[in-house]
Amino acid sequence: ISLFATPIETLVNSTELFQKAIAGFRRMDEVLRHAPDIADAPGAPDLVLERGEITYRDVCFSYETRERTDTGEERPVIDHLNLTIRAGETLALVGPSGGGKSTTCALLPRFYDVDAGTIEIDGQDVRDVTQESLRKAIGLVQQDVYLFDGTIRENIAYGRPRASDSEIEQAARRANIHTFIETLPEGYNTVVGERGSRLSGGQKQRVAIARVFLKDPSILILDEATSALDNESEAAVQEALAELARGRTTIVIAHRLSTIRSADVIATVEQGRVVEQGTHDELMARDGTYARYYRMQFEGDRAAAWAC
Ligand code: ATP
Repeated sequence: ISLFATPIETLVNSTELFQKAIAGFRRMDEVLRHAPDIADAPGAPDLVLERGEITYRDVCFSYETRERTDTGEERPVIDHLNLTIRAGETLALVGPSGGGKSTTCALLPRFYDVDAGTIEIDGQDVRDVTQESLRKAIGLVQQDVYLFDGTIRENIAYGRPRASDSEIEQAARRANIHTFIETLPEGYNTVVGERGSRLSGGQKQRVAIARVFLKDPSILILDEATSALDNESEAAVQEALAELARGRTTIVIAHRLSTIRSADVIATVEQGRVVEQGTHDELMARDGTYARYYRMQFEGDRAAAWAC
């Protein structure tokens, strides 16, 4: 499944436009169902970002519609999960579909609250700080990009409507989309069409990446696309994402071999737990779950789907 309902991406990427975003939600019911549960603690301070280290400590979580095992017991979606992502590093989450990668990510910006355990950023429990400051600190890039029917400029500036033209252009350059925009007769004033229909998949992705460059968060959550873009687009998107992740603490739900191999740490998540953690070489040497998945997906029959 996709990481989050698309409109939630809009929400987390543009706290300033919270109300506007809510009005535009296609899955408003979902948000409204969750929003009341998640409130700022009275007098909550803003998150103070120092280095951007993230720690999941013994985290357990179940959706309201709980999973049951064959014997009828409740099985948490996240089950005593532990993870540390050092400041500025990239953690790649890998593992079978339904293992809990997206849910792990969704707990960080508090789209849902943990049932037990804690998630901390620089030692501050995410439940103890204001949501606005939390969501300002986190940028999201997901598979399904949400563009609205405005100009490219407006789409890039969505989270920071007061951004100057030069800031917008700088973000577009870093996202590898400026040159393309310049080829359009209307340039940054080009209207992208309903849900960005006048742009290709890779172009939309890069507009979304430009948005996050403009937002400049310390922490990044990336849900790497499973569907292939054409080669040129693919390379441009990959390059832009790598640039975006540089110097930011990043969690990526990884599907690409290049992403997995270049991550500082890989964690295999299965049935809501981290079952293995290490670099590619370490995990291959261990010849455990990761090595098995790796061979299944990237060697031999490439059709074997791992996490899509
Ligand atoms: P995939 O690679 O297929 O996206 P994943 O590893 O990201 O999978 P999750 O999407 O986190 O796994 O799903 C973990 C479990 O939680 C699955 O059993 C899934 O069906 C369930 N789940 C995910 N989102 C919801 C939701 N909004 N409501 C109820 N159950 C959910």
